[in-house]
Amino acid sequence: MTHRPPAEHGAPADAEARRAVAPVICYPVDALRPPALEAYRTARAGWAKVAEVVIPPRDARCFEVAAGRFFRIVSIEGPQVGDLNLWAAGNLGERFFSGKTRALHGTHVTTGHRLWSSLPYLRPLATITEDTLDWYGFDRHGGGVHDVIGTRCDPYTHRLLSGGTYHHCCHSNLTRALARHAEMTLAEAEPHVHDVLNVFMCTGFTRDTGQYFMKASPVRPGDHLELFAEIDLVAALSACPGGDCSSEHSSDEAACHPLLVEIYRPKTPPAGWTSPAPNSYDRTHGSGLS
Ligand SMILES: [Zn+2]
Repeated sequence: MTHRPPAEHGAPADAEARRAVAPVICYPVDALRPPALEAYRTARAGWAKVAEVVIPPRDARCFEVAAGRFFRIVSIEGPQVGDLNLWAAGNLGERFFSGKTRALHGTHVTTGHRLWSSLPYLRPLATITEDTLDWYGFDRHGGGVHDVIGTRCDPYTHRLLSGGTYHHCCHSNLTRALARHAEMTLAEAEPHVHDVLNVFMCTGFTRDTGQYFMKASPVRPGDHLELFAEIDLVAALSACPGGDCSSEHSSDEAACHPLLVEIYRPKTPPAGWTSPAPNSYDRTHGSGLS
């Protein structure tokens, strides 16, 4: 099918005036206290690396990061995209909320942005403290890096579009990793897998048709995305079967590389930092009940 059928309705006389209305930012974030990046960065001095996890190509691993520690997702060996899920340790019901993170910070995240948790918690799970790809910005196609607009490659969409079966999509990799880590069955683990942060992936929407696109990631070995855990986290990272996502991502065709996760414990927490509490809305939803 064509992406968008031609319009069936003629434009009104004032169509151009209506189109010319200036956009308004939905969620001005001026009210949010900006992260104290200097304090986070100062806390890195003398930190100790306490763990390393290698994510094999076309597979995923879980790892835990205690509140107040940093973790880096590092490109090694070759350009590779990673799909990241985050949960509150001890409560898989609180998890990364890609949609609200997008609404608050935009389509692609970088240093100083936060990864927010699902309702009714809505608090920062992690803060991005360094992004070696921050120079990329937005390219002439409208592409940017580290998006919160994609979902994750999955075997259901693959089947819908091609009829085939592929077992190493990020959705399946994350499901297997969580099942192993949380000692659950695959059926128990799968509903906890959620829309990801697409680490190192370069994506955007086409201006003419509004379609989601990807292109070869600009990441190179040595690049990393560094995050600070605001609460105790369980994380899962999949090394996408799409590799650098320059062509497709539901097959074994693409060149794939491992990813490295490094976890660091600072000597002292960042000055003035406290782990954020869940959102304080009273959850009565206008019922008059409390
Ligand atoms: Zn993927």
